[in-house]
Amino acid sequence: MAFPAEFLEELKKRNGIVDVINSYVPLKRAGNLYKACCPFHNEKTPSFSVYTGNDEHFYCYGCGAGGDVITFVMKAENTDYPSAVELLARRANLTVPNDGYNREASDKRKRTLDANREAARFFHSQLVSGNYPEASGYIKSRRLEAAVNRFGLGFCPPGKKLFNYMTDLGFKPKELQDAFLCNRGNYDIFENRIIFPVIDASGNVVGFSARSMEKKPADGRKYINTNDTAAFNKRRNLFALNLAKNCKSDYFILCEGQTDVIALHLSGFDSAIASLGTSFTEEQAQLIRRFRSKVLLCYDGDEAGRSKAIPAIKILNDAGIETKVIALPDGFDPDEFIQKYGKDRFELLIGQSIGQMDYRIGKALEGFDITSADGRVAAADKLAEIISASPSPVEREIYTEKYAKKLEVSPESLKSLVETKRKKAQKGEQREQERALIRQSAGYGDTVNRDKLRMPKAAYAEEALIGIAQINPEFIAKAEKAGVLTVEDFRTEFNKRVYAALSECVGAEGRFDISFISDRFSADEIGRIMHMRILREDLSDNGFEVFRMNADALRGCAGTGTSGADSFGDIRALIEKKKKSDQPKG
Ligand SMILES: [Zn+2]
Repeated sequence: MAFPAEFLEELKKRNGIVDVINSYVPLKRAGNLYKACCPFHNEKTPSFSVYTGNDEHFYCYGCGAGGDVITFVMKAENTDYPSAVELLARRANLTVPNDGYNREASDKRKRTLDANREAARFFHSQLVSGNYPEASGYIKSRRLEAAVNRFGLGFCPPGKKLFNYMTDLGFKPKELQDAFLCNRGNYDIFENRIIFPVIDASGNVVGFSARSMEKKPADGRKYINTNDTAAFNKRRNLFALNLAKNCKSDYFILCEGQTDVIALHLSGFDSAIASLGTSFTEEQAQLIRRFRSKVLLCYDGDEAGRSKAIPAIKILNDAGIETKVIALPDGFDPDEFIQKYGKDRFELLIGQSIGQMDYRIGKALEGFDITSADGRVAAADKLAEIISASPSPVEREIYTEKYAKKLEVSPESLKSLVETKRKKAQKGEQREQERALIRQSAGYGDTVNRDKLRMPKAAYAEEALIGIAQINPEFIAKAEKAGVLTVEDFRTEFNKRVYAALSECVGAEGRFDISFISDRFSADEIGRIMHMRILREDLSDNGFEVFRMNADALRGCAGTGTSGADSFGDIRALIEKKKKSDQPKG
């Protein structure tokens, strides 16, 4: 075990799961549990459940995420087990015991962060040294002087200077390669570029964005961003979030790139953030939701900017974030607009920012000729589709009224069209969830237990056993003593690993808690282990007799066929079942 059982229990006692999760997503009480829209997948009807009591845990019936408060933090913070434990310990004023734990993974992240911090210092010192007039000149020409300190801008000189500096500090070439600072030939990846450090919400330098000083760089790459490393994933980070999270406004301004963000901050709009060289992602929406529930989208006022705005709006909406759009005039980015018209005019634009609904409808209606009756019918259909996507009944009502008038159709008919489309979409969402669960329990595309499709019967019995053993840990020793079941009887590799961990942990501690084994499994795997238990909890009989029956069933699977598969008949039946479930109904 990674940490002493007593420590983990104290840690969990002091970090109530409802408290902790509530600080990420608002929980609503529903009987003796709490519900929310899942923070790990996009949904409109809550299937994320939090169970309280002696043994606090969460489970999402939509995506299968599950575990205890530690697993939750691992997933929510995108971090590993020891870091999640550390974070919770800090929250509860506990000291983490550090006896003999293998910290390889977290060491690697820490080492990468150390390298990044030193590199950022080096880049910055080079830029302010004045030794590179072309770099200082670039900063001046772009009016970025005030950003140099505020954003920690830097310059990466040519000639392996960073590599030499870092190796003098004791970093190994492999570490610099892993941190995406140097390439395999030990050349500095960001050579001759202006450096924009990317700093996460906790103040770590997680990566870099490096801009070429040439208008047309020889290698064609205007920006080079850090690739995914132990400390960085571009889908899960936002530029300037470290600064914007402290802004006074109750919204973030989401821009396309870091130069927009810097221009806005320098003009006093300190709530600006941007995604990093990717289109906006679900993960980034979840990250935003931790700090603000409202976003003003400020993408370039050209066709490209508008076409990127629509998917971003959808992702933000699905994550439950209120979204408005700052309508920049055609051909302007935020920096150009402020340069030309000043920040007061931009302030005015913020005040006039239009609801995302109006924005999307306006854009959709452009394609219809609403002067003709046919055109209005077609437009009403499209309109109903957009309005029906809003989770808020009030909002649906308002927009139905407003646009019925504009299209000169009756509000009642538009309203019934909206409701029909809404029901259809909800059914679709539900059916998709059901299908995913069937696929998962049948083992199709099962990345957690890869043997399941090959040995479904064995896997079902194993999952029942693991589920019951979590509820009644004493059954493990009892079964072994009675010759009913041992670890060796398990046939799928993943389940065998789980049962071995359970058995070892209960043997050592005399009790079971998911946190005792969490260090050996990924967050997805823990979700699966939790699922096995939740399935059993929904059944009334989890006594030893049921345990024994499943153990017998599992042993009965042994020795059938040389390939280890349960039988071809089972697989054929499963495929039939899948075919049926995939056929559209009605
Ligand atoms: Zn979920």
